[in-house]
Amino acid sequence: MTFNDLGLNKLLLKAIAEQGYEKPTPIQEQAIPVILQRKDVLAGAQTGTGKTAGFTLPMLELLLRSKQQDSKHHVKALVLTPTRELASQVQDNIYNYAKHTPYKSTVIFGGVKINPQIVALRKGIDIVVATPGRLLDHISQKTINLSKVDFLILDEADRMLDMGFVNDIKKIMEVLPKERQTLLFSATYSEDIKKLSNKFLKSPTLIEVARANTSSETVAQAIYHVDKTRKRELLTQLINEGEWKMVLVFTRTKHGANRLSEQLATDGITSAAIHGNKSQNARTKALEDFKKGKVRVLVATDIAARGIDIDHLPHVVNYELPNVSEDYVHRIGRTGRAGNKGEAISLVCVDEDDFLASIEKLIKKDIPKVWLKGFKPDPSIKAEPINMGGNRGARNKPRGGQSRNGGGGARSSAGRGRR
Ligand code: AMP
Repeated sequence: MTFNDLGLNKLLLKAIAEQGYEKPTPIQEQAIPVILQRKDVLAGAQTGTGKTAGFTLPMLELLLRSKQQDSKHHVKALVLTPTRELASQVQDNIYNYAKHTPYKSTVIFGGVKINPQIVALRKGIDIVVATPGRLLDHISQKTINLSKVDFLILDEADRMLDMGFVNDIKKIMEVLPKERQTLLFSATYSEDIKKLSNKFLKSPTLIEVARANTSSETVAQAIYHVDKTRKRELLTQLINEGEWKMVLVFTRTKHGANRLSEQLATDGITSAAIHGNKSQNARTKALEDFKKGKVRVLVATDIAARGIDIDHLPHVVNYELPNVSEDYVHRIGRTGRAGNKGEAISLVCVDEDDFLASIEKLIKKDIPKVWLKGFKPDPSIKAEPINMGGNRGARNKPRGGQSRNGGGGARSSAGRGRR
């Protein structure tokens, strides 16, 4: 099947061709015709499957067909996402797909000044991508009018629920027209997702595509057993000997991310760290530098990395295994996207054996193990309990002023009591 077969407008086909997409991904093939029939959709699909184009293209197509381009700019579509990073990426994508249409989009999230967002909204916007907290601020300040929204998209809905946004979502629903098309994307179907869907979707069509990660053959996974004190040395060697140009490295804590980034610098490897304690601007800059190849390594905590979408990211390293097994799946899903090959390596010390066991139970497979010459673990070292944070005091408290943004900071780490 081609994009042409899907009956999309030539303005959209032109944008798709400019993106270099040759054919629709499975989620696009399934979702686009259903959305074009104006049906609500409940889709099981993760970031990395091409879901953003899967909902944006038919939405733009319907707007073009309804000739709404002739009317004044007003908010016709709202996309809600859990994090600032995902919101920015989704809006970048929408901008690209809508490039040749008359529709304008903007992104709204917390942790940055509200005034530039107000100015942008005043100019007239058709598509808004937002995190729930900051959107509610705009709603209560009456700086946004959502009374003519035709399309509502809940992106990574499971994460929004995980992050405690359910009441915010309900409040947002109250100001939206009842007559609208609602599309819900979620990586998992929990009871809570079903409840949300029952409440807000009208006889949705169910769409599911294969998970883009563990089962995917495009990500080669390996466990490197190593002593904790030698992880940095091993990582430096892997990067240097493999001549890795672009590697995303995960740590469990913000403090650990900072420390590793500094240590890599002393080893002569350029790197940047992103985590919830960094300002939005610092996070955006770090991500940009990484994408442009100005730094070889991006060290991230799980929450900061949510939604990060980097085309052709060849290497992911778990410097420390996550204590929540699902995070492993999300981490390695950053590589091997859109059919590209990726490699996910985990550096595992004896303290992390239990984490490894529960990850393998979750993904229902044994990850190949490697004992690298020169790095064999010292058998006399016994497992110790994992210290979960360099900033223990702050760990369970929301940070001031950020309790309602959609970002990787306060609410999420507070809610789950980690990182
Ligand atoms: P998403 O799941 O929406 O985050 O998309 C994941 C990645 O796939 C993004 O980098 C998109 O640019 C890319 N992508 C989306 N659709 C296609 C397609 N039809 N062909 C190739 N790449 C695509």
